[in-house]
Amino acid sequence: MRDITHFIDGASVAGTSGRYGEVFNPNTGAVQAKVALASPSEVDSAVASALRAQQTWALVNPQRRARVMFEFKRLVEARLEELAELLSSEHGKVIADARGDVQRGLDVIEFACGVPHAMKGEYTEGAGPGIDVYSMRQPLGVVAGITPFNFPAMIPMWMFGIAIAVGNSFILKPSEKDPSVPVRLAELMLEAGAPKGVLNVVQGDKTAVDAILNHPDIKAVSFVGSSDIAAYVYAHGTATGKRVQAMGGAKNHGILLPDADFEQATKDIVGAAYGSAGERCMALPVVVPVGRKAAEEIRERVLAEIETLKVGLSTDPAAQYGPVVTAAHKTRIEDYIQIGVDEGAELVADGRGFKLQGYENGFFIGPSLFDGVKPSMRTYQEEIFGPVLQIVRAETLEEAIALPSGHQYGNGVAIFTRNGRAAREFASRVNVGMVGINVPIPVPVAYHTFGGWKRSAFGDINQHGMEGVRFYTKTKTVTARWPEGAQDDSAFVIPTMQ
Ligand code: NAD
Repeated sequence: MRDITHFIDGASVAGTSGRYGEVFNPNTGAVQAKVALASPSEVDSAVASALRAQQTWALVNPQRRARVMFEFKRLVEARLEELAELLSSEHGKVIADARGDVQRGLDVIEFACGVPHAMKGEYTEGAGPGIDVYSMRQPLGVVAGITPFNFPAMIPMWMFGIAIAVGNSFILKPSEKDPSVPVRLAELMLEAGAPKGVLNVVQGDKTAVDAILNHPDIKAVSFVGSSDIAAYVYAHGTATGKRVQAMGGAKNHGILLPDADFEQATKDIVGAAYGSAGERCMALPVVVPVGRKAAEEIRERVLAEIETLKVGLSTDPAAQYGPVVTAAHKTRIEDYIQIGVDEGAELVADGRGFKLQGYENGFFIGPSLFDGVKPSMRTYQEEIFGPVLQIVRAETLEEAIALPSGHQYGNGVAIFTRNGRAAREFASRVNVGMVGINVPIPVPVAYHTFGGWKRSAFGDINQHGMEGVRFYTKTKTVTARWPEGAQDDSAFVIPTMQ
C-alpha cells in the first residue's frame, strides 16, 4: 500500500509516531494509501528547518522571490492533469472540478508574483524639520496553515503562495483525508527554486494541530475548516500570542426574486448546490424564493433538473458530481436527511440509497431536495455539506434579507433578480461577507479577498489579495532625522512635528 509521508527540510520523512490515517478511494470505498500522522517531534523538526530557511529566504530580494513563484506556477501548470487526477482520486470530485481547484490556487500564485509591488511601503518626506517617515512590510518568520479536505490544492496555495512570496517560511498541515497533492506542491516549490525548509508539509490530525498552536516559533496560523475547530484554533492560537485567521463553515442562501431569469437561476442553483457533491464552503444549499409563485416554479424546475443530473465516478467526464470524501461523511449527510424528515420538512427528492452499478461500496449520494424547511429546524441551522438543497419560502424581500442575516454562518449569499435597486439594497444590508448578484458562487478573484462573517470566520483579516499580504507581514515605521549640527531639543518631552 502507498505511504504518504511528511515533507520536511526538502525531503520525504516517514515520521516516528507509528500512527497512520487511512486514505480512501471514494469511488470504490477501498483504502488506497496510508498517511503518516505526526507527533509533536515532526512539527519540531519542520519548525527547525523552517527557521533556518527563513533567515536567508527573507534576505532574497522580492523580485527574486517573485521569480520562484513564476516558476512554481509554470511547473504546476505543466502538471495540471497529473495533479487534478491525484486530487480527484482522493477527494472524489470530478476531474474538471479538480482542475478548477488547482487553477483557483494558481490565481493566488499569480497574485503572489506581484509581491515586489504588494510589499512596497509608504513614505512621507518632511514630516517635521529634516524628518522623513517611512514604513516597510517585513515577514513574520515561520508561519503555518491548517487546511480542510474540500480544496486540497486551492486553499494551501491561498496561504503559502502569499506567505512565502513575502519572505516567510511555511508549515502546511493539510487534511489527512486527501494529503497527496499538498506534498506534490511542496516538491514543486523546491524544484521552482525555494530553498529547502521554506515549504514543509506535516501530515496529521489534532496532535499536529496542537503542536503547531503551542509552538513558540510559529508566529501566525491560518486555518480553514469547520467552525467549531476554527473557534478552537483561534482561541488557542491567539492565547499563545499568534496572529490567527480561522475560516469556518457555511450555509449560503440563494434569494430568488419573482422577476429573476428562472431558466438561468435554476442552472446556477443546481450547479452551486450539487456541484462537488455540495462539499464547498461556497455551495448554495438553501434557496429562498420570494412569494408562492416563485417557490412553486423553482421547486418544479429544480426537480426536473436533478432528475437529469449524472452522479458518477470522479473519473467519468460525463459525471456532474462524484462520491463524497469518506463513508463517515456519507453517513453524516444521510443522517441529516433523516433529521430533516423527522423534523417535518418535505423530502421532495431523496438521494439516499443511490448505488452506482459496479461501485456499490463507493461513497455516492444522489441529489436530495427539501421543501417547507423552517428557520427553527436543525437541518436549516447546521451545515450539511452534501448534495442536499433546502427550499425555505419567504413572503417578502425583507424576510429574505433577514434569513441569511440572522443565520449563525455568514460566508456567502446570492440574489437572483433583474431588479438593480433590490439587488443593491440586498447587497448593502445583508449581514454576510461575500455577496453574489446573479452569481451563485461569489468567490472573489485572487486580487480581492476571501472571508465570511459571523461563525464563518474568526479573526478580522481575510484570505488572499492585499489582506493576505497584511496577514503575513508586520509593518515597521521608521522616523528618521539626519541632523546638520547639534540639536537643542529636550530629550525628555514627547517629540511633536511643529
Ligand atoms: P475540519 O474542521 O474537520 O478539518 C479542518 C482541519 O482541521 C484539518 O486539517 C483537520 O485535520 C483539522 N482538525 C480536525 N479535527 C480537529 C481537532 N479536533 N482539533 C484540531 N484540528 C482538527 O474540516 P473539513 O471536514 O476538512 O472541511 C470541511 C469544512 O471546512 C466545512 O465546514 C466547510 O464549510 C469548511 N470550509 C470553509 C471554508 C471557508 O473559507 N470558510 C473553505 C473550505 C472549507
